Amino acid sequence: MANDELKQVRKDVAEFLPDSSWVSEVEFEGPVLVLYSTKPELLVDNGNLVRELAKRVRKRIIVRADSSVLKEEKEAEELIKQIVPEDAGIQKMNFDSESGEVIVEAEKLGLVIGKAGSTLRQITAETRWTPRVQRTPPIKSEIMEDIRNTLLSESKDRKKIMRKIGRRIYRTPSAKTDWIRVSFLGGAREVGRSCELVTTPESQVIMDCGVNVAYQENHRAYPYLAMPEFIIENLDAVVVSHAHLDHCGFIPYLYKYGYEGPTYCTPPTLDLMTLLQLDFLDIAMKDNKDAPYTKKDIKKMITHTIPLAYGDVRDISPDIRLTLHNSGHILGSSICHLHVGNGLYNLAYTGDFKFDKTRLLPPASPRFPRLEGLIIESTYGGSDDMQQSRIDSERKLISIVNETIRRGGKVLIPVLSVGRAQELMILIEEKMRQRIMDQVPVYLHGMIWSATAIHTAYPEYLCKELRNRILHNEDNPFLSEIFNNVSPGGLDEVVQSEPCIIMATSGMMIGGPVIEYFKRLAPDPNNTLVFVSYQAEGSLGRRVQRGLREVAVTDENGKLKVIKMNMKVVTIGGFSGHSDRGQLLRYVRKASPRPHRILVQHGDYNKCENLSKSINRMLRINAFAPQNLETVRFM
Ligand code: ZN
Repeated sequence: MANDELKQVRKDVAEFLPDSSWVSEVEFEGPVLVLYSTKPELLVDNGNLVRELAKRVRKRIIVRADSSVLKEEKEAEELIKQIVPEDAGIQKMNFDSESGEVIVEAEKLGLVIGKAGSTLRQITAETRWTPRVQRTPPIKSEIMEDIRNTLLSESKDRKKIMRKIGRRIYRTPSAKTDWIRVSFLGGAREVGRSCELVTTPESQVIMDCGVNVAYQENHRAYPYLAMPEFIIENLDAVVVSHAHLDHCGFIPYLYKYGYEGPTYCTPPTLDLMTLLQLDFLDIAMKDNKDAPYTKKDIKKMITHTIPLAYGDVRDISPDIRLTLHNSGHILGSSICHLHVGNGLYNLAYTGDFKFDKTRLLPPASPRFPRLEGLIIESTYGGSDDMQQSRIDSERKLISIVNETIRRGGKVLIPVLSVGRAQELMILIEEKMRQRIMDQVPVYLHGMIWSATAIHTAYPEYLCKELRNRILHNEDNPFLSEIFNNVSPGGLDEVVQSEPCIIMATSGMMIGGPVIEYFKRLAPDPNNTLVFVSYQAEGSLGRRVQRGLREVAVTDENGKLKVIKMNMKVVTIGGFSGHSDRGQLLRYVRKASPRPHRILVQHGDYNKCENLSKSINRMLRINAFAPQNLETVRFM
């Protein structure tokens, strides 16, 4: 049965269109209204008509062809090949008869799209199929192929899921929205397992749902989902800020325990988080640990995910509208902005963010149409958390690499596979090309190469310089031959080879190949271990960073042995994907409009406190650092 809103919208559509006999179906699919039409080209050609209608019904509208008028797939494929210039490099066309979409995968998307979308419109006019374009990444990505294939093979189910979600979003509200509160289920006064529950009289939304990989015990590793007001059946939406596991590692668990609603994130976040969640299961299996969910639950998450580009405004419940903005932290990372109760309140959650340009991304966006409340991270919010400048950090890395190489040693850099790894790859490629850094092989071990491939599929999410280099393959820094992806069995060969740079996961030395390299390289004083990212309390990385001289590890036979730490240890702060204290405060100062209230989280216990006090004192904005399980009322 159609709900009231759908009945009203159908009435509006029938009244508005001059001849609605060629509209065969009007349905909500996720947060958009889809018009199925026997003459889609009339609507697509007449953009004004659809725009006017969208304004009238106050919804985003998509037009698709009714399946009865779709051209035969073979014929449509031939037509598309004739319409699209050959230089576009079409690799694949997948026809999804359920949605009437043809997914055109090509190397040069601009040529498939045409000037102001003219080629796309021509495809619709001649084949009736609705084209959707996807880039073929210059580095092959199995994960992306798997996700794309899953969505295609599940398209029938997905249509059902999206319709159900759509009707739920546009249900008749049962209460007037006159308050909003946020409960912290994780990530308050700590780094790891970020999870916030936003509640209004009508809706419940979760922002991030992560795991703390530094802890083994469930009660410290996973968010407090057993909190009484969290009822999974009442959950309207999950919003993901970015793909790091401390923000998304627990989402499949929600699906395992009955959640059937949507997950919203940017397209690159979906690909990267799937990669990291699968890796998380893999590591758990290798360590003989019970994982909290299985691959099946990840697949369920994928079929329920609604990708949003930066700036897309979407209704996610009767009284909440979501927009994602660039946060400058990693590929696809977002500041999540909620517009609540038709203008009652506007709340932004920064996730992790960098308020400075990096080699990878533009700085986080501080501007919003409206803003009253801000939930901000404080990883480097302590009073002495000033990072070295990027230029100084780059110089320091160059001299450390050159010194180590010249004395015959190896440089080991623990990295998260997403973010710092790519930032360093771009830097190292440039400096070696300019011969400022000695030219040696760079070995990548862990998920780094797979994550890099995903970066090359989304140049539009990267900063301008890098985007232009990726769009011209001959200049793509990631394709440089200095980079070598190490196969799982290739570790010993790398360790026995000539001087080199090794980047390996995990970033905080909690499991992953970096441990194996560390065991073998630590005793030799010629080698250097370089930390470039945050090392959480409880991690081996943090202990080594603090000067641990002897490390107990298990050898190949499972026996405990003590390794002497003779290799040099260096920390370089300026490559971080997080804002340092200065950047955090500057972001608050520049946030526009100026927020009235700020909650500080995602930082060590004292850092959250310290930053919130500074915001109160220096910027005269009401700020507070809640603890886990606390609920704060914003309105
Ligand atoms: Zn992060």
